[in-house]
Amino acid sequence: AAMPTEIFSGTAMPPADAVLINFNENPLGPSAAARKAAIALLPQSGRYLFPQQLHLAELFASQHHLPADHVEVYPGSGVALDALTLAFTSPSAPLVVADPSYEQPFQMAGKHQVPVHKVPLRPDFSHDVKAMAAAAPNAGLIYVCNPNNPTGTVTSRSDIEWLLANKPKSAIVLVDEAYIHFSDAPSVLDLVAQGKDVVVLRTFSKLYGMAGMRVGAVAARPDLLAHIQALRTGGGAALPVMSVAAAIASLNDPRLVPTRKKINATIRDENIAWLRKEGYACTPSQGNCFMLDVKRPGHEVAMQMASRHVFVGRSWPIWPNQLRISVGTASEMSRFRKAFSEAMAGKLT
Ligand code: PLP
Repeated sequence: AAMPTEIFSGTAMPPADAVLINFNENPLGPSAAARKAAIALLPQSGRYLFPQQLHLAELFASQHHLPADHVEVYPGSGVALDALTLAFTSPSAPLVVADPSYEQPFQMAGKHQVPVHKVPLRPDFSHDVKAMAAAAPNAGLIYVCNPNNPTGTVTSRSDIEWLLANKPKSAIVLVDEAYIHFSDAPSVLDLVAQGKDVVVLRTFSKLYGMAGMRVGAVAARPDLLAHIQALRTGGGAALPVMSVAAAIASLNDPRLVPTRKKINATIRDENIAWLRKEGYACTPSQGNCFMLDVKRPGHEVAMQMASRHVFVGRSWPIWPNQLRISVGTASEMSRFRKAFSEAMAGKLT
């Protein structure tokens, strides 16, 4: 049987009855319309279908009132995030990130001798934009994840506007809106149209349930996009065509975002309320994950739960006694609550 550590790291397949609330995926998967569109396109998938890919970028742009040359699509927003980190940081252009936050830019910086300034979240779990603006006078990139992974907490639009007005001149602000659809936070895509030094990332991996299909989008002024285009040739530009068809179908369904936002919020808020009633602090999440204070080393609790086939997320070094919990289905979360109660009571499996 696979070891829990292999399942946590994604190197082994989980057992068939596993509850997987470890990677912030969407248990609902692609919408019915998205599945239908992907399957319908299968016979044509011997072609690159570049016009279809262009259509996806144009549709995204028009839905957000952006000129078409302000949007590019990528096979996952993570590919764009790596490119943005490489393009805008260097050993003399540091990266500024919140702590805890999504670690991908930090990891890329580590591979390229880029100095990183980690700025703890404020007590209300928003990004400390004042400290982030002041962290490095020669900063190349300031990363703002909104809502934040792993806390699910939001940073106000006025704070992001303040950061854009007060950041070092050299710095670009990257707002990662991977989880924005789950929240009430306003997008800052309109600041892209206003020509600000801002890049906005979006993904189909979260609310749209397409993590394994790999589609993401990046929006920025064309002169900023040029920096990441320089890291990509025509040969590296194609997306999986069935995934593009599914993404288009998802954008064309006006009910999808509100329906799934409500399902996620209901299950998330019920579970956070239960955990708080049981005496455990949770971050005030507006996303599809939250941090849970388990009052002891998080990995110990995670291993206890894994022996019950409930796989939760990990701890961040700054908060070793907290675990990230992704929001699963109602029945998955009832298994989560049972496994958590048993693990905390010290019951052996
Ligand atoms: N940004 C954030 C904040 C994420 O949490 C993730 C995935 O977990 C990504 C980007 C990358 O997602 P993808 O490459 O699937 O679009």
